[in-house]
Amino acid sequence: MSLMKVKYLGSSVLHRQAKQISVINREIINLAEDMIETMYKYCGVGLAAPQVGVSKQMIVVDCGEKYQKETYILINPKIVSHKGTQIDDEGCLSLPGMYLPVVRADYVAVEAMDLSGKKIVIEGNKLLARCLQHEIDHLNGKTFDEMVSEPEKLMQEIPLLKERIEAILRGDVSPFPTDEEISELEAAEAEEAKNMEKVRA
Ligand SMILES: [Zn+2]
Repeated sequence: MSLMKVKYLGSSVLHRQAKQISVINREIINLAEDMIETMYKYCGVGLAAPQVGVSKQMIVVDCGEKYQKETYILINPKIVSHKGTQIDDEGCLSLPGMYLPVVRADYVAVEAMDLSGKKIVIEGNKLLARCLQHEIDHLNGKTFDEMVSEPEKLMQEIPLLKERIEAILRGDVSPFPTDEEISELEAAEAEEAKNMEKVRA
């Protein structure tokens, strides 16, 4: 497994339609493994192949045990049904440090192929539904800034985002979450797990 470099807003691979995967060979299996390693290293809940410079229809998703038991690897995913709406702040590894509200469907069902070539259907609510919609958008060349529901906030954020991306590309700033950010994320996850135990009990 090896860590892949994340592409940032403005990189052409993020703004075009990704190609369907017709054959699952060693290259595709390696890509899935590398994408999972990269997603965890950046503390993301999902990653689409174009975000690591590969214009192919594959996404990996891990929204934590509240939403799913295992890490999903979805090939040629397609939303086949959706219900309701939700609004929440969204972020993206390709748009570092920017969190803005996006309206999404509250529930989606996604049809895809798994790594063994079997057809599967994944259903998700809340964060998982949001993540699936966000990652599938990436396969269609769409990034979440195009979906932000408060355009004036976006206008304020774009110059800061550009500065942040330039600093990362120059090597002045690490693209990885800081130790402080990681402990915040871990604390939030532990809190969620505690709430889950209450629900289960
Ligand atoms: Zn993204």
